[in-house]
Amino acid sequence: MGPVLVAGGGIGGLSAALCLHRAGHEVTVFETVSEPRELGVGINLLPHSVRVLHDLGLEAELAAAAVATSELRFCSDDGVMIWSEPRGLAAGNPWPQYSMHRGRLQMVLLEAVRRALGSDRVLTGHHLDGFEQDADRVVARFVDRRSGTAVGEYEGEVLVGADGLHSVLRRSFVHDEGPPRYSGLVLWRGAVEAPPFLDGRTMFMAGHDLQKAVVYPIRGPLEPGGTVLTNWVAERPVDLDVATADWNAAVDPGEIAPWFADWDFGWIHVGELLASTEVAYEFPMVDRDPLDRWSDGRVTLLGDAAHPMRPNGSNGASQAILDGEALADALSADMGVPAALEAYEAARLESTSRLVLANRQAGPERVMQWVEDRCDRTCRGQHTCVPTGDLEREANAYKQLAGFDLATLQALSRDQQDA
Ligand SMILES: Cc1cc2nc3c(=O)[nH]c(=O)nc-3n(C[C@H](O)[C@H](O)[C@H](O)COP(=O)(O)OP(=O)(O)OC[C@H]3O[C@@H](n4cnc5c(N)ncnc54)[C@H](O)[C@@H]3O)c2cc1C
Repeated sequence: MGPVLVAGGGIGGLSAALCLHRAGHEVTVFETVSEPRELGVGINLLPHSVRVLHDLGLEAELAAAAVATSELRFCSDDGVMIWSEPRGLAAGNPWPQYSMHRGRLQMVLLEAVRRALGSDRVLTGHHLDGFEQDADRVVARFVDRRSGTAVGEYEGEVLVGADGLHSVLRRSFVHDEGPPRYSGLVLWRGAVEAPPFLDGRTMFMAGHDLQKAVVYPIRGPLEPGGTVLTNWVAERPVDLDVATADWNAAVDPGEIAPWFADWDFGWIHVGELLASTEVAYEFPMVDRDPLDRWSDGRVTLLGDAAHPMRPNGSNGASQAILDGEALADALSADMGVPAALEAYEAARLESTSRLVLANRQAGPERVMQWVEDRCDRTCRGQHTCVPTGDLEREANAYKQLAGFDLATLQALSRDQQDA
């Protein structure tokens, strides 16, 4: 097969490039940004996507850069526990769940792509501007985004739009989609060196629909007894007219910390953590409606370009990585490009669409609002106002929906051992 052109060098595009290369395809990645840097703050990788990255040979690099999450805990806004469950290896999963710096992950992937494919196969400063296709080939046009100057036309057998939330390629599937769909909630994100809390590997979410905090370490201590890089996300409803959404709009954390001034749980003070951070990033929580189709002839979409979702459930990066594996599998089957892209779409569209919609109901986090609605504030130590069975069912249902429940992971592990 001829070259695969991947537009977008984010987590989705880079892991797709590695999967395609491993399957024997010639791949070139085109990235808008001229000099990729370690942008963003924390991100989670769920065990089914860690499996893909381990298969790509990145096990040691991930283990060195990430924190293997041991527990997910939900609390009310006074720190009283709602639900706690082991995660990753602590839950008996065959692969860890990782929390890490998003920019570090992107760099680990970028270096791996450059090593495997050759540095000349990653063309930075190349922003996809348009394409033409016929029965035999696709030609993609690229510009320098800042000047608008043409920088090249490239011919391939397949064009993959891994170009994120504001995807150019997606516009060829939905012409009048307009801006992303605003949730009514704004996220503020930051990362700061802080003493470890609980076992040093726990991720917790506290609060309810009107105010929430999500906190987890994304890098362990650099020396025994040292601080850990701690990621936090604060969330609140804000009445906004969202025309676009930028992941990197910097704001002063001092504007956000006072809302959490009395969130002192004994084992962590959320307000003090936020106040000690140098810079926060504001991101209106957005998504887009699921598409009916995302493949046409020789072009297809992947990751946030295909199914941008709200971050509840920590799934965006993982689902993008799973897309890359599914795309490489489909293109390696002997069925011709258009049929392969349809097979890829069939494997991924329905499950990711269900997640987009589930995350609009706050995904697994919605139990926090159940407690807010039902609790008379007499629960101590642990909430009893919502039956444990309901909480357990909810947690399991979301894991099944996202494809990382224990039974599914164990079946994947058995398949790998048999292969
Ligand atoms: C700068 C940035 C910071 C982020 N920070 C966080 C964070 O802190 N926490 C979190 O959970 N998620 C964050 N995300 C989102 C998260 O990385 C994605 O939701 C997820 O990893 C899916 O990845 P993706 O590769 O599909 O999309 P993205 O990660 O958005 O990657 C898309 C890539 O395509 C490039 N691109 C865009 N348009 C074009 C074009 N026309 N031609 C060529 N290249 C193009 C972009 O520069 C980017 O590198 C961030 C995304 C970005 C871009």
